[in-house]
Amino acid sequence: PTSVMWFRRDLRLADHPALRAAVDAGPDGVVPLFVLDPHLFDAAGTPRQAYLAGSLADLSERVGGMHVTHGDPVDEVVRVARQAEASTVHVSGDRGPYGSARDERVTRRLAEHDIELVRTGSPYAVAPGRVTKDDGSGFKVFSPFYRAWLEHGWRDPAPAVRDVPWFSPGGRTHRLPEVSSDADLPTPGEASARARWRDFLDEDVADYGEERDRPDHDRTSRMSVHLKWGEIHPRTMLADLGRSAGAEAYRRELGFREFYADVLHQRPDSAWDYYDHRFAAMDYDEPGDDLEAWKAGRTGIPIVDAGMRQLLGEGWMHNRVRMIVASFLVKDLHVEWQHGARHFAEHLVDFDLASNQHGWQWVAGCGTDAAPYFRVFNPMTQGKKFDPDGTYVRRWVPELADVPVKHVHEPWEMDDPPADYPAPIVDHAEERREALRRYEALR
Ligand code: FAD
Repeated sequence: PTSVMWFRRDLRLADHPALRAAVDAGPDGVVPLFVLDPHLFDAAGTPRQAYLAGSLADLSERVGGMHVTHGDPVDEVVRVARQAEASTVHVSGDRGPYGSARDERVTRRLAEHDIELVRTGSPYAVAPGRVTKDDGSGFKVFSPFYRAWLEHGWRDPAPAVRDVPWFSPGGRTHRLPEVSSDADLPTPGEASARARWRDFLDEDVADYGEERDRPDHDRTSRMSVHLKWGEIHPRTMLADLGRSAGAEAYRRELGFREFYADVLHQRPDSAWDYYDHRFAAMDYDEPGDDLEAWKAGRTGIPIVDAGMRQLLGEGWMHNRVRMIVASFLVKDLHVEWQHGARHFAEHLVDFDLASNQHGWQWVAGCGTDAAPYFRVFNPMTQGKKFDPDGTYVRRWVPELADVPVKHVHEPWEMDDPPADYPAPIVDHAEERREALRRYEALR
């Protein structure tokens, strides 16, 4: 018998239970398949498309040529499975809103031809929906979820599958997409993911707890993009983490990734709607020039502009700065969070529906475990605290390169501010009052 290994967000060979299952079911041959689904691919901006193309190219080389097709997976998977005379198609489970509906449709169409879609594992240590309260319902707050998640535990990493009988069923195959991006992207692929992870373990994990909030030091793991595409499984990472305080802090962040996936699974509508429905009635401004200034990194608020320019420059932004720019959009510019989330979706290489939408909703005050709405980030105070010398700001906003430390987060306080850097588009103190006024009106 033969089988099909349909790769999606699991572009690796190590610690891959679905691949193990595909080999067990297909001793006479396993087709490595990737379907470029226009619904997903066309919606991704060029940084993400370019990264995916690179990661696919890397994996393709290691499987003796990936069978790539383009179109609706329902048609493509069925066609390839029949061509290969496979009796099973193997995937890593996907419990996201689009993925689970797609997999249901594929399952039904395959069944018409007596072919089974077999889901094994997921991109998480614990699949969304598995960690529940005693009454079987899902968690709405992170800390109790995290305790239950640790208690639930996960399997040890599976050994790498060797000697896979890869084969190609022939027929139409699409060329790998050729996309280039202006952003300065990390090297894609499983080997690159492992190398980055080893470097982080050697150099930075010990101090992670103290350093993770410092965009100027830039010592977070940058594993998000590798996790996004499954070039490494979080189980592998969890097994490598020791017991140091830094490792504990890091485990907690991986827990956040799992929590948000679980919440999205509980509430698929929260992908684009308010998790806390009350906030839909809030008074927001129609986005206009302010939103464009925010996107371009020309708001006149240094830490905000540095973050937005890092997003365009690298397809990535430091977590602390993601919170600052998101708060600024929602609470200083009074723009609904979805506009910001969409811009992030277009530019982030690590864009993940669950982490992004719930990261935004948390900052906007309408999400899970919400920071109280009235806690409005002050971007100048944040800048001084987490980028005290302005190193991060200067890296991304060259207009401020020569501004003394004292004024780097408030250049408008200078007698002679740099002429080529914009004046602030809003007054933070005033907009903070305005945000609170609108919140009171909602209550
Ligand atoms: P590290 O600090 O090294 O963290 C390690 C890993 O833990 C990350 O790779 C990530 O998988 C996970 N993690 C860390 N913080 C969070 C968090 N707050 N929520 C969920 N997982 C976390 N993360 C994404 O992966 N994709 C997104 O689209 C995304 N959008 C975000 C939008 C906003 C508004 C905010 C506030 C956060 C968002 N995050 C997102 C979470 C976080 O900013 C990134 O995961 C992190 O910056 C990635 O860099 P890193 O790998 O160096 O992180």
